[in-house]
Amino acid sequence: MTKKQRHKAIVKRRIFLSLCAVILAAVAALIIFAVNAVLSSADKEEENISSETGGQSSADVSSDEPSAPSYPSEGPAGLDANYSKLFLVNGENPLAEDYDYEANLMTIPNEYLNNSWFKEIGGQIDKDIWSYMKAMIDAAWDDGVELYVWSPYRSYDMQNTLFQNQVNRCKANDTSLTDEEAEAEAATVVARPGTSEHHTGLAADFNMASDSFETTPMYEWLQENAEDYGFIMRYSSEKQPVTGVIHESWHYRFVGINTAKEINRLGMCLEEYLDYIGEQ
Ligand SMILES: [Zn+2]
Repeated sequence: MTKKQRHKAIVKRRIFLSLCAVILAAVAALIIFAVNAVLSSADKEEENISSETGGQSSADVSSDEPSAPSYPSEGPAGLDANYSKLFLVNGENPLAEDYDYEANLMTIPNEYLNNSWFKEIGGQIDKDIWSYMKAMIDAAWDDGVELYVWSPYRSYDMQNTLFQNQVNRCKANDTSLTDEEAEAEAATVVARPGTSEHHTGLAADFNMASDSFETTPMYEWLQENAEDYGFIMRYSSEKQPVTGVIHESWHYRFVGINTAKEINRLGMCLEEYLDYIGEQ
């Protein structure tokens, strides 16, 4: 072999070795790429399974409902902020005719009432929640707002009287109505006996039962402060399909301070909230 031939052979070997190195590097890169692809598809699979099953990871939980803030255990005037009463009465959940609530009632001092009929017969309220209602009215007065109880507890008999009066009014307006038709028409304006939240002693109308309440400083004050004393505006127009009751800006219901704040934070009505906590 001449010197020239030997040189050619060396160059050929170098080219061959270089090609081998390039091929090896390419194969290694392909293997790394394939392994990565398999691992990331396995991750995605796991994520899909976790979100389909309601999500167990912390990322999924935080993307749902924001968790409740921690509320203080004491409200204004030393009131227990964790105390709550979530008794539900509505058109679908009436109280029995013989339901005895009298034992838990107390008479509201007349200075807190502005309805002469209730002043005469004695306006009543659940005795466990009066301290909350009293603290709320006192605070409104301190702010120069003339908040008064218009209509608190209503017994079955009282509801029956109000309902029958409305039935009679409907019949007088249209003498062709049957009893059943007149009752159905009356029920759109006055709650059927046993289905009024006033029966629980946990609700009250303030100042007047009229749409004009919404234009008063009392309404404005309640919108801002009622939850601090455990009360929610029970019937909004937005929730009428759920509550079955027209918008009543004057009707407030005690649920408890921290519960009221939570219901308002979630933007729910009582029916929705009870469903919500039932599912927790
Ligand atoms: Zn009411």
